[in-house]
Amino acid sequence: MKGFIIISIFVTLSGVTFGQNKQTSTDTSKLSELFIKKIIPFHCAKGPEKCDKCKELLNEGAKYCLIRVYYVSAGVITRLMIEMVVDGKKTSLEYDIENIFDNQEAAMKYSRQNSVKVLPN
Ligand SMILES: [Zn+2]
Repeated sequence: MKGFIIISIFVTLSGVTFGQNKQTSTDTSKLSELFIKKIIPFHCAKGPEKCDKCKELLNEGAKYCLIRVYYVSAGVITRLMIEMVVDGKKTSLEYDIENIFDNQEAAMKYSRQNSVKVLPN
């Protein structure tokens, strides 16, 4: 089950300049972006094979989550990886789960109020 936690997102993010802000800014918050996506909110990079908590979450199924995707790797901590297409290139990016919504309505409301894109499944 290697690579189990890699989630495929096939969406082109127009206007994203992948990794190019690195030289001009040290503010890492600008090098990431929030999205909403329905995923299984694994809590660590070990995944359901090695972690009981992750296994539990797998059994509960996918939920609408607020995720922060990092365009530049922190290179220090082990984060979950998400596969995205940026400017036509398939890229594995690190992400954190910032919030798990109770239901789809709550996720859509947050999306409207905060202009956060909902990624297709
Ligand atoms: Zn875990």
